Amino acid sequence: MATQIVKLMRTEEIAEGTMAFHFTRPPGFEFRPGQSIDMTLVDPPETDGEGNTRAFSIASPPFENQLTVATRMRDSAFKRVLRNASPGLEVTIDSPGGSFTLHKNPTKPAIFLAGGIGITPFFSIVRQADHDHAPHKLHLFCSNRRPEDTPFLDILQWLEKSNPNFKLICTMTDMTKSTKEWKGETGLVDKGMLSRHLTTLQGPIYYIAGPPAMVAGVRKVLVDANVDEDDIRTEDFAGY
Ligand SMILES: Cc1cc2nc3c(=O)[nH]c(=O)nc-3n(C[C@H](O)[C@H](O)[C@H](O)COP(=O)(O)OP(=O)(O)OC[C@H]3O[C@@H](n4cnc5c(N)ncnc54)[C@H](O)[C@@H]3O)c2cc1C
Repeated sequence: MATQIVKLMRTEEIAEGTMAFHFTRPPGFEFRPGQSIDMTLVDPPETDGEGNTRAFSIASPPFENQLTVATRMRDSAFKRVLRNASPGLEVTIDSPGGSFTLHKNPTKPAIFLAGGIGITPFFSIVRQADHDHAPHKLHLFCSNRRPEDTPFLDILQWLEKSNPNFKLICTMTDMTKSTKEWKGETGLVDKGMLSRHLTTLQGPIYYIAGPPAMVAGVRKVLVDANVDEDDIRTEDFAGY
C-alpha cells in the first residue's frame, strides 16, 4: 500500500496534556490491532530538527471507520502543529506495520503492560477483542503518575465491565500530586503486583509498551521472575 492522505476529523483531550487525533480512514486501509503507522505533516507552518514524521500506534480498533492516534503533547514543532490543527488538516500515512499484535492461541492469556501513552496499541487490541467476543483472557496493567494523566481511563473501566475476559489493573505512581480519589494499586509494576493479580506468572504472553526506560524496567521484572524471554514482546516508544 502506498502513502495515503488522511484528513483530521476532530481532536479530543483524553488526559491532562494528552490528545487523541481522529482521522479519516482511507477505503481498503486494513490493519491489525496493535500495529503502527508513520504519520507525516504536509508543508507544516513550522518544523524542527526532529522532522515532520512520527511513528504512532493506531489507537482505534479495526472495526471503527476512523484512524485515531494519541500522544502526550510535548513541545516539539510536530506536536505544536498538530495541537493547533483544525479539522480538515491533511497528513500522509504509510502502510501499517509491526507485529505487536495479539497471539493466535486463545488458551494462553495475554498480559499487557502499558507505561503512560504506551496504552495506545493495547487500547486498539482490547476494544477489538470486546467487539469480536475474543476468547483470550486479557489483563491490562497500566501505569501512570495520576488518574488525571491516565489516557482512556473511563472507557477502559467500562470495557472491564463489558468483557468478562478482560481485567484492568491501573497503578498510580505519584498520587501525592493528584486531587482525585484512588482506591487501586499505587507504585511501580513489580513481581508482587503481578502476583496479586495473576494466578501464575509463567505461561501467559507478555506485551510491554511505553518509554524505553519503562519497557526495559518491566522486562527485567519479568525476567527476574523467571518468565520465559520467548513469551515477552516489547514496543519501545522511542522519543520519550
Ligand atoms: C512503533 C512506535 C509506536 C509509537 N507509538 C506512539 C504513540 O502511539 N503515541 C506517542 O505519543 N508516541 C508514539 N511513539 C513515539 C513517537 O514516534 C514520538 O517519538 C514521541 O511521541 C515523541 O515525539 P516528540 O515530538 O514529543 O519528541 P521528538 O521531537 O520526536 O524527540 C524527543 C527526543 O527523543 C529523541 N528521539 C526522537 N526519535 C528518536 C528515536 N527514533 N530513537 C531515539 N531517540 C529519538 C530526540 O532526539 C529527542 O531528544 C511510537 C514510536 C514507535 C517507534
